[in-house]
Amino acid sequence: MNNETEQVPVLAVEHVKKTFGKTDVLKDITETVHNGEVICLIGPSGAGKSTFLRCLNMLDEPTAGSVVFEGNDLTKMDDKHLDQLREEMGMVFQSFNLFPHMSVLENIKLAPMKVKGVDDATATKTANALLDQVGLADKADAFPANLSGGQQQRVAIARALAMNPKVMLFDEPTSALDPEMVGEVLKVMQDLASEGMTMVVVTHEMGFARNVADKVWFMADGYIQESATPSAFFDHPQTDRAKDFLAKVL
Ligand code: ADP
Ligand code: MG
Repeated sequence: MNNETEQVPVLAVEHVKKTFGKTDVLKDITETVHNGEVICLIGPSGAGKSTFLRCLNMLDEPTAGSVVFEGNDLTKMDDKHLDQLREEMGMVFQSFNLFPHMSVLENIKLAPMKVKGVDDATATKTANALLDQVGLADKADAFPANLSGGQQQRVAIARALAMNPKVMLFDEPTSALDPEMVGEVLKVMQDLASEGMTMVVVTHEMGFARNVADKVWFMADGYIQESATPSAFFDHPQTDRAKDFLAKVL
């Protein structure tokens, strides 16, 4: 890593606040994500985790503060430039949201061809390589309805990766899955992390957070209450809020 990439964080969040009506969901958040870092964002339901993740790519617009992605302040951007930058941020949701009338291969090829103007042969080659990466090389011609939840989520990850993102944002990617399918999706995410992908992962999978994250952000009541290495956080939580949460989930 050269000095330049060390200096400019992939994401810099500065004093972000988000209010819905009278509800202050995010109260004042300042954090950075560096190149190659894996952040696990954990915390109780309703804490504001999804809202925060959506603020990172402006699916929700912060009420105050800034989100700087590779040096560009997304809160000050015109729509066209914002769309271009968003293409570099892959997002994977709890619900897989694949297009049901398209094959797996077509799902993965769609955005690179439509949005980036990649030609069919190149898009097909990339899609097949990504399917191989997520362990689904034999499912290119299958339709989403004929895949298990774990397989659909792995396709959704491949689809996000097809845009060659600088960062991947995951919002509880395994929460909708039957227990026996959680592992196969976490494995794909772990592989991605070890290849150096920058990732922000909202998850309730504490084992994944402990083993894969470089840093854990614990969110409660609209604040990041603790930002620490997994071992520091899980073995020595500092706040009563975190101790209480961990007592319930571990
Ligand atoms: P988490 O993902 O940690 O469970 P969320 O970010 O989904 O939390 O929600 C945090 C709070 O913000 C909740 O009280 C939720 O009801 C509220 N909220 C989220 N999105 C909206 C919205 N679009 N309009 C109004 N309130 C919202
Ligand atoms: Mg959520």
